[in-house]
Amino acid sequence: METNIHPESIPDYMESGELRTLQLQRLKATVQRCYDNVALFRQRMDERGLKPADVRSLADVAKLPFTQKTDLRDTYPYGLFAVPMKEVVRLHASSGTTGKPIVVGYTRDDLEVWSSVMLRSFVATGMHAGDVLQNAYGYGLFTGGLGAHYGAERLGATVIPISGGNTERQILVMKDFGVTAICCTPSYFIHLIEKVNAGGISFKELGVKVGVFGAEPWTEAMRAYIQRESGIKAFDIYGLTEIIGPGVGIECCEQAGLHIFEDHFLIEIVDPETGEVLPDGQEGELIITTLTKQAFPMIRYRTHDITSIIPERCACGRTIRRISRIRSRSDDMMIIRGVNVFPSQIEAALLSVEEAVPHYQILLTRKGGLDQIEVQVEVTKEMFGDRISELESIQLRLAQAIDHITGLRVPVRLVEPHTIARSEGKAKRVIDNRNQ
Ligand code: ADP
Ligand code: ZN
Repeated sequence: METNIHPESIPDYMESGELRTLQLQRLKATVQRCYDNVALFRQRMDERGLKPADVRSLADVAKLPFTQKTDLRDTYPYGLFAVPMKEVVRLHASSGTTGKPIVVGYTRDDLEVWSSVMLRSFVATGMHAGDVLQNAYGYGLFTGGLGAHYGAERLGATVIPISGGNTERQILVMKDFGVTAICCTPSYFIHLIEKVNAGGISFKELGVKVGVFGAEPWTEAMRAYIQRESGIKAFDIYGLTEIIGPGVGIECCEQAGLHIFEDHFLIEIVDPETGEVLPDGQEGELIITTLTKQAFPMIRYRTHDITSIIPERCACGRTIRRISRIRSRSDDMMIIRGVNVFPSQIEAALLSVEEAVPHYQILLTRKGGLDQIEVQVEVTKEMFGDRISELESIQLRLAQAIDHITGLRVPVRLVEPHTIARSEGKAKRVIDNRNQ
């Protein structure tokens, strides 16, 4: 257990009963505020004959209607805001993949809370004042950059607001500015490792010790790869624009699940099909209700992210509960010959084969009404010079690994080094050509 607790991280260690009492009090206030100020929430509750006073226990949250991403689009831009615009001091937006963007707002207090959960996130990774953070999350409407920025400043770290992209400059800064910690997407970090190593020095010679990676799904196998190749300790951070941005949850030094800042976010796991609440430990869709947000409160938001609640206490001493690494978004599930497959399963399979490098892409096509899948994996320059029989053997082992994890025989195609696009933000792992 950590002995020197940062004053702002004290809620991480709150006695459970006390935490639940605080959650209930905040939940009641949130529901009341939503009922009073947001037409959609009031209408949905009225349709069910519900009044804010019907929320008497934390379990009563299950009576409340869900909120979907489409509700944000339908009320675009400000329909779900619960305060007058003059109290909104910041807007962010998420591009989403289709249609209109979604817009979220923050009051001054909301920004304080956000900085504070980000500070607590950094503290959980062992970062402290004096660390030099290269913040390579995108700045702008995307929440990643500014979210990490204010949290790290509040911690007293030195923030380098480099934003995403411009890999040459990232490397120069990393070398010259005494960087000890970095934030970006895991896929971009892999690209950075590759570029540094290609420049003739090993990443391990740099002073970077901690990486805080999120905004997209990644696997334990990817963590192992990153830590082995870069010598840093890699932490998983989770968040989403609709709830606050990054800082909903983070791993601690135990690296065994992500602690959720439960004093600000109430979590449930439901069956994604039926919406039924599932018991702790069971995998399902994560539902989040904000407990303190003023400008953009959210009731039972369907994240579409698949995970489970880990009820056991963490060895680090924090009492706030953990969720397991997000396996995937339910929307990313592919149904191939009747079998459900997630990109994360393909990633885990590929990385279980020693020679594989983590640059891969999943190509979906449709032939005669049937979905077809092909996995393209880059080989290294050295491997490319190898004999055909050796490449065939790697290809076979990759296909076997996928078969082992998914139960499917999937064609694997080895492609030349650097043919798969590198991402500066969120990686695009699945290329879906099924409707072409
Ligand atoms: P967008 O919807 O435009 O991608 P967001 O940045 O708000 O905008 O995306 C949030 C989503 O990103 C989450 O719902 C989740 O699917 C994914 N995500 C964020 N952090 C992680 C993480 N650590 N592991 C897996 N997925 C993550
Ligand atoms: Zn912990």
